[in-house]
Amino acid sequence: MILELVYFAAAVLFIVGLKQMGTPVHARRGIVWAGAGMAAATLATFFYTYDGPTKLLLLLTAMALGGGVAWWTGRRVAMTSMPQMVAVYNGMGGGAAACIAALELLGGAGHSTGVLVLAVLGALIGTVSFSGSMIAFAKLQGWFDRTLTFHNQQWINFGVLGTTLLLGLLLLFFPSFAPLLLLFFLLALIYGVMMTLPIGGADMPVVISLYNALTGLAVCLEGFVLDNAVMIIAGTVVGAAGTLLTRLMAKAMNRSLRSILFSAFGTADTGTAVAVEGDMKESSAIDVAALMAYSREIIIIPGYGLAVAQAQHKLWEYAGLLEQRGIRVRFAIHPVAGRMPGHMNVLLAEAGVPYDKIHDLEDVNNDFPNCDVALVIGANDVVNPAARTDEGSPIYGMPILSADQARNCIVIKRGRGKGFSGIENRLFYADNTRMLYGDGREAITALIQELKSL
Ligand code: NDP
Repeated sequence: MILELVYFAAAVLFIVGLKQMGTPVHARRGIVWAGAGMAAATLATFFYTYDGPTKLLLLLTAMALGGGVAWWTGRRVAMTSMPQMVAVYNGMGGGAAACIAALELLGGAGHSTGVLVLAVLGALIGTVSFSGSMIAFAKLQGWFDRTLTFHNQQWINFGVLGTTLLLGLLLLFFPSFAPLLLLFFLLALIYGVMMTLPIGGADMPVVISLYNALTGLAVCLEGFVLDNAVMIIAGTVVGAAGTLLTRLMAKAMNRSLRSILFSAFGTADTGTAVAVEGDMKESSAIDVAALMAYSREIIIIPGYGLAVAQAQHKLWEYAGLLEQRGIRVRFAIHPVAGRMPGHMNVLLAEAGVPYDKIHDLEDVNNDFPNCDVALVIGANDVVNPAARTDEGSPIYGMPILSADQARNCIVIKRGRGKGFSGIENRLFYADNTRMLYGDGREAITALIQELKSL
């Protein structure tokens, strides 16, 4: 009875926590509430399901290992590596659900067919989410080529999935037949890898949130298998939130989930993009500072390079100095800027930028033609006009921030490095664009100094 009550309280905390995460103002509180719910559920399970010293020892070891690694990585991980960490943790959730399913299936003789169906489905989804998330992790980490396509790939993938499903069906009749179980998991692992290999470039955010949703679903299914209410609720919440996020991200990319999963879009290998010609025109800190000091409207577009440079605090200091001169300064955030959903919002919030100065793509995009300077710092793909104009470009169709339509565009980046999708950006060659080369933080520091000396 007490266990059920604690689970119920934990479920309430998850839901209220998730609701609080809906706005940046309460997001931190939401994380604490949801975390408290998870801690209560874990502790209650720990104390109320005592089943002999062996299990206690196993539980303690798992908690010490998992908690220790999470604590250590959570403290050490750089902001730029956060997406990789999210991918790994997400994959672990799917993997854990799959392990539960494996154990239940091995001892499956006593389960009803309905429970076995749920266990097999959870095992499949959890395993695919695990191996797919690991490939997403490796891609984000830059460990191997971002996309891998080969002849008849989709047919081979369908073949692997079909065979896995067939083995899953057989498992309903022979759940504890170990070789069958092993083969099923092996193929499910392979399918997760194969499904993720061809996806790359600008599509990665959608895939990451899709695996997030799948992990939630797998946990929910295994919750039914174990008859554990808190797993069902937590899984449903994660699954639903992940599904909504996947839809939002796909919409932001102007893409359907089907085409993301099955067309290897967003890769540098696809399409016949028009070659970019011309020169990038370099400027100096003094010239850029002067241009911006005598502007009236400035829109700042942060991208992944801002996170690499950790320039958010300097950037906000610079924006404040510009505002003191009566200049209107706003920040424009593309939904897939950075390397994880909300990456730029987190950075700017950390620097103390008020929320009313941060605008979404659709709120601000029409204002670029009336803006004196679009300051692009460490962004590339999200301001690439090829998405609008070049049908052969792998990112064609993705909505972008229209920095090219501003009267002047200043781009801060270190050199000629490409964006995540690996394609050239004609914005950098445009007549109204000037490049200010350098690390983001150093460049902004130089602008602050020059502005103060004007
Ligand atoms: P991009 O990855 O397109 O470009 C970042 C740019 O920052 C590079 O061209 C690089 O150029 C520059 N840069 C790197 N380090 C620094 C530095 N220290 N100082 C200044 N500049 C630097 O970033 P965007 O934010 O424009 O686009 C995000 C991309 O990532 C999209 O393609 C998106 O689909 C993808 N993605 C997004 C995810 C999400 O959930 N948001 C998840 C996974 C992928 P240089 O080397 O010359 O300095």
